[in-house]
Amino acid sequence: MKKYDYLIVGAGLYGAVMAYEAKKKGKSCLVIDRRDHIAGNIYCKNVEGINVHEYGAHIFHTSNKEVWDYINQFAEFNNYINSPIAVYKDELYNLPFNMNTFSRMWGIRTPKEAQEKIAEQVAETGITDPQNLEEQALSLGGRDVYEKLIKGYTEKQWGRDCRELPAFIIRRLPFRFTYDNNYFNDRYQGIPIGGYTAVVEKMLEGTEVRTGVDFFDFRKENPDIADKIIFTGMIDEYFDYKLGALEYRSVRFETEVLDEENYQGNAVVNYTEREVPYTRIIEHKHFEFGKQPKTVISREYSSEWKVGMEPYYPVNNEQNDALFGKYKALAEQEQNVIFGGRLGDYKYYDMDKVIEAALKVAEQL
Ligand code: UDP
Repeated sequence: MKKYDYLIVGAGLYGAVMAYEAKKKGKSCLVIDRRDHIAGNIYCKNVEGINVHEYGAHIFHTSNKEVWDYINQFAEFNNYINSPIAVYKDELYNLPFNMNTFSRMWGIRTPKEAQEKIAEQVAETGITDPQNLEEQALSLGGRDVYEKLIKGYTEKQWGRDCRELPAFIIRRLPFRFTYDNNYFNDRYQGIPIGGYTAVVEKMLEGTEVRTGVDFFDFRKENPDIADKIIFTGMIDEYFDYKLGALEYRSVRFETEVLDEENYQGNAVVNYTEREVPYTRIIEHKHFEFGKQPKTVISREYSSEWKVGMEPYYPVNNEQNDALFGKYKALAEQEQNVIFGGRLGDYKYYDMDKVIEAALKVAEQL
């Protein structure tokens, strides 16, 4: 069998960027993926003329112009701005946490009134130096926002008490005192016209790709197929979980095609109360301002990851990060293998951070 410069394990965003960069430098790559399709978790499938985000909503956003220019080589982006709605019992709020949210919550109008209300509630908690997600959320938005919009949603998504989760998770979201429903603070945002699979397809153009191939089986039969391996799967699985298993959250989607044009009027509607079993409903067509006669919706259910399920989110608490540190030490001794991506780095990366990380490693190579 032919020998390659690189065997790239995983045809997701990280692997595809590495393949593209390697090809540019005249290196030969073989990309393999366990799934029967490319594009990893950003894979989109066309259903009723709608690009369905099969593994959950992906909205591209970044403040890094280099990354924005980079991804724009592979697609034109539309001007979608994410503005989710939160449903709590019979109340409806705008997200992220902004003047529309506060006004609806407390019947107030000015930033000063909102700030006073929050300050009053924060003072009651007595928190000055937030140590976990609950304390961080309380000290940013006060008790009402926390109880109605954060606590239930977060505990459903992560399956853990908010006091056992790291504060950084909630700092992903803006808290702002303007009437601005843009979920992100980033300078650049949008959805690639035509979907994400086409983006990855372009990145992989001219590179040999084999899907439906399990790395661990493949390696047994082809131990010397490449000088270097770029591994984007789960780092603990690579080492056969020998130091113990890292925790991940998995997500299950109940997807339905509905014979109506517009089900919820928005791409993302979060259900923030504990009692509703799913975290959110995605109506895919709205990512691309779709006018198709039918619509496709996905209810999203979170669960703890177990062998055989798809891993989505690393659970970056102290215990897991410490275990990851030990795997990373093993990884550093693993000659000619580079670990990367959300699963290889065990980091809650957004897409722009995945590209940043891949470009950095590609440059070093
Ligand atoms: N979050 C929340 N209420 C919401 C939406 C998000 O409390 O209605 C919190 C929750 O803890 C979640 C975190 O904010 O894990 C990050 O949300 P984001 O939308 O960034 O998550 P992703 O889209 O990556 O799943």
